[in-house]
Amino acid sequence: MENPKPRFVFNCQKCGLCCEKEWEIRIFLDDIERWSKDGTIYRVFSNLFIKDDNEIPSIQLEWENGKCKMYDAEKKECLIYNSRPIICSAYPLKWDGNRYLIRDENCLGLDEGVMTQEGLEEIRNAAKKEHAEEERTSTNLPIIQSILLREIIKKSELEYNKLPDEEKEKIKEIFKKSA
Ligand code: SF4
Ligand code: SF4
Repeated sequence: MENPKPRFVFNCQKCGLCCEKEWEIRIFLDDIERWSKDGTIYRVFSNLFIKDDNEIPSIQLEWENGKCKMYDAEKKECLIYNSRPIICSAYPLKWDGNRYLIRDENCLGLDEGVMTQEGLEEIRNAAKKEHAEEERTSTNLPIIQSILLREIIKKSELEYNKLPDEEKEKIKEIFKKSA
């Protein structure tokens, strides 16, 4: 008799290993849209970069000294946990269009504790969403760039409005000279 397929069991142990390693933390249009609504975009945009050495360019979160720049290693927590990227919500699961795969066999949450049906659906949905977003994002890079630009301008205007009049005048003079 054929062995039954093992059920995926996962409970995150909050060990931080996936945040303290160098991997491609891909950012999708859905992340950018959500971040521009909830303000997370201002915390992340200086840490985003476009990787274009693959066939299809991708937007990714930077890491530094072997850890994601959004990770607070002392507190062992993600600084944007409540709005973390889809790829992190799906970790360590991945959907390739036909089946689920384990992205990281070394994840300490695998085979730990009891997996609720709700938890299973949540992580499966995140993995499927990540897969769908890969294509949507690659065909919408100009839209993402314009969203980022719009947010940078919005932030700059907010900061400019907070400046004392004297500073505003200095900036106006600089613009007049460079015009
Ligand atoms: S997803 Fe896995 S590697 Fe990442 S913090 Fe949770 S248990 Fe650790
Ligand atoms: S965004 Fe957050 S959850 Fe994702 S790798 Fe960075 S610190 Fe970890």
